[in-house]
Amino acid sequence: MVTILWSLCGTVAIALAAVCGWLWLVERRDRASLMLCLLGVAAAGSGFIELGLMHSATAEEFSIWQRWLMAPVFLGFMAVVLFAHYYLETGRLWLLWTIIVMRSAMIVLNFIFHPSFNFVSIDTLRQMSLLGEQISVIGTAVPRTYWQMFALVSLFLVMAYLIDTAARRWRKGGPDSRRKALAVLLGIVLPLFSTIVYAHLVVFGVLRAPLSNLLWFLGALVVMVYALGRDIIAKRRAQLELLGLREQLAQAERVSVLGQLASALAHELIQPLTATAANVDAARMELESEKPDLKELRAILDDVNRDDHRAVDILTRMRQFSRRHAIEMQPLVVEDLVQDVLALVHSEASDKHAVLALAMQPGLPRVLGDRVHLSQVLLNLLVNSIHAVESRPLDARGIVIEARANDAKGEVELAVRDSGPGIPDNLADEVFKPFFTTKSNGMGMGLALSRTIVEAHGGRLWIERMAQQDGAVFRFTLKRA
Ligand code: ADP
Repeated sequence: MVTILWSLCGTVAIALAAVCGWLWLVERRDRASLMLCLLGVAAAGSGFIELGLMHSATAEEFSIWQRWLMAPVFLGFMAVVLFAHYYLETGRLWLLWTIIVMRSAMIVLNFIFHPSFNFVSIDTLRQMSLLGEQISVIGTAVPRTYWQMFALVSLFLVMAYLIDTAARRWRKGGPDSRRKALAVLLGIVLPLFSTIVYAHLVVFGVLRAPLSNLLWFLGALVVMVYALGRDIIAKRRAQLELLGLREQLAQAERVSVLGQLASALAHELIQPLTATAANVDAARMELESEKPDLKELRAILDDVNRDDHRAVDILTRMRQFSRRHAIEMQPLVVEDLVQDVLALVHSEASDKHAVLALAMQPGLPRVLGDRVHLSQVLLNLLVNSIHAVESRPLDARGIVIEARANDAKGEVELAVRDSGPGIPDNLADEVFKPFFTTKSNGMGMGLALSRTIVEAHGGRLWIERMAQQDGAVFRFTLKRA
């Protein structure tokens, strides 16, 4: 029964260690999970060695297991104090270091002096029955009393450290701090205290029972995994909320950019509608004539049809662009992306006498991304460039959209180059910060959002370093589909 129980606990510890280790691999900054993973390994190691102790046939064999028990115990204590350090973030560093140094000294001494840190000698074993199984426990032994005091001091320092860290966290206030502090107090401190008392009663021969760390290591692990699990769920919920907010912000920014283009877009729409009205008048006059010219009428209808498509095309793009939209990754043709955006800025650019040119490498591979979001990036860069070149003379307002493949990196690189006043070096980082704007009607979110979008696509967005009088180049990369 003991063998089954200990093996079962060991298996649970290893499974929890694997889960925590995986959590840490996914998010390397989450060191608390790494410490729980180590605690799981320590608990399983402890369980294995404790089984060895309980099944020892001779005092000699028992001594060897006893010596090795120190290794998982050391690992477990380090994991527990460092877990509290990373989880509560309020520990006193000097206390933490004192504990680490003391426990390290203990493990070194343990392997230098025979048979172990705790005992001068283990002379005889005694058999006892535990949960229906015969197991070996210490019969007669000589403990190293003074060293044991040292161990006891280190244990009390561990307790003091944990209680102090939890108390400081508690005093920070807020339900989150209190919950975390309470989890450490109930999940670690209480079982640790019981185990210290129990282990010393065994070492000094008051209790004749097996030494065990497995149960409290495992207990602490379960409570902490539960507490950490709650945190992870809360964090995930907050992340989703943030994602939703970012989505709303991106949409608001798209609507704002469309607003900046509104007058040019209205102009673009009025043209086909006015042409259609004129064509309808012409058709009516033709029909009212004695001998309507059918060829002429067909040509007029073709014109009406073309103008109608033009208007519908612009309106569709505007609607797609301003709608609330969840990210949808798909392979995209770079030329289509550029055409989408050109359709929206073309009239604004010609209003401002900006000459738009393309320098696209032919046969570009497709990129992986969300069509609306990537159009948003390109549109932001183009609208900024149009604003930038406005300060230049009429014949010096050039904007070029460049695209080329970088096969070595599996990326496509796009750039928007303009002949505007450029960006001073000291503002090269500032312009990407939210709400940074030099425009009286600017929101300052365009570049911040564009960078977020590009990075969410696994790419980078940066300003190319060049002499300021040569204008500005914003370059970004996208992954090949
Ligand atoms: P907004 O356009 O609302 O100001 P952005 O984040 O798009 O917000 O741009 C932030 C600032 O970066 C602009 O106000 C402008 O000062 C600067 N900037 C952006 N693009 C260019 C450019 N092509 N040339 C010069 N300055 C630019």
